[in-house]
Amino acid sequence: MKVINYLRISVTDRCNFRCKYCMPEGVKEFIPHPEILRYEEISLIVRAFATLGVNSVRLTGGEPLVRKGIESLIEELSSVEGIEDISITTNGYLLSEKAPSLKRAGLKRVNVSVDTLNPEKFAFITGSSKDALYRVIDGIAAAIKEGLSPVKVNTVLIKGFNDDEIEEFIKFSEEFGVEVRFIELMPVGGKFFSRENFIPASKIRQLLEERYGELTPHKTFKKGPAKSFRVPGTKAVVGFIPSVSEHFCHECNRVRLTSDGKLRLCLMSDREVDLKSLLRSPNFTFERLLSTIRGAILLKRRIDGVEALETLGCSRKMFTIGG
Ligand code: SAM
Ligand code: SF4
Repeated sequence: MKVINYLRISVTDRCNFRCKYCMPEGVKEFIPHPEILRYEEISLIVRAFATLGVNSVRLTGGEPLVRKGIESLIEELSSVEGIEDISITTNGYLLSEKAPSLKRAGLKRVNVSVDTLNPEKFAFITGSSKDALYRVIDGIAAAIKEGLSPVKVNTVLIKGFNDDEIEEFIKFSEEFGVEVRFIELMPVGGKFFSRENFIPASKIRQLLEERYGELTPHKTFKKGPAKSFRVPGTKAVVGFIPSVSEHFCHECNRVRLTSDGKLRLCLMSDREVDLKSLLRSPNFTFERLLSTIRGAILLKRRIDGVEALETLGCSRKMFTIGG
């Protein structure tokens, strides 16, 4: 039986970057502010999930650090009984200025997305400026200094774009003491995904093993969809998230809350449960919220993501789900 103990919450669909694989060029329409869940609504939903066994929450987006007062949400969620772990996935652009207040608010750990260590390529893929990469790296250093731990780097693999930088990422992992997780590109961000720019995580593993020798499982090997390894002869730790080439539905422990209040049972399936309407209805009670979530989790236990992908599909763009 699947245990659902992890909730990913998209706090906004807005972002200060325009990554080519996530937010297709020309996106101008965002969810109107009144339709976005307020912090007190998110907090109520988290309380309900905590009652039902969720102990770990990740804030994502869009870019979570562009939402005003995100620290107050983190502080509030830290006080929810049963929530043991609050983390964030960020593009890191605002991290150096926000790391101290995030830590004070109760944030435990952070994942920062970095697809290339070349400033020009970084500006290209994120649609930002040439100094953006330096700001993001400063953000990683600030998070480490503040004691957010672990800090991990997420790198989406794009064939012909960053598959020649694997050694640089190994050096980066060693230098900063951060795990670098290679994530397969998913067909969720508009037209960017294609066979030509997809590279399976297994290929990167093979390249690493040819260069460094056989990878050995790291102590965190079994946690989450990423399998982590030590790289022989170095201090680097790498992870692989083969979301496309290998399905890990059977071990999926998570559900997602979109910024407009939909409970999404599987990243790849449009099957969603509208919690916002329930919260805003005159008949709302906490008991009703609990029973709706209970029902949704039962449904999640029955669906298989591969089947969902084939039969339902994913019509949302990644920035509206949060990865
Ligand atoms: N803005 C934050 C960031 O970029 O880290 C959080 C939101 S972003 C949607 C969450 C994660 O999804 C990032 O690591 C991003 O690289 C990843 N992502 C976005 N689109 C993707 C795609 N098409 N395939 C694989 N990963 C994707
Ligand atoms: Fe923004 Fe993150 Fe999507 Fe890039 S991946 S456009 S930073 S939400």
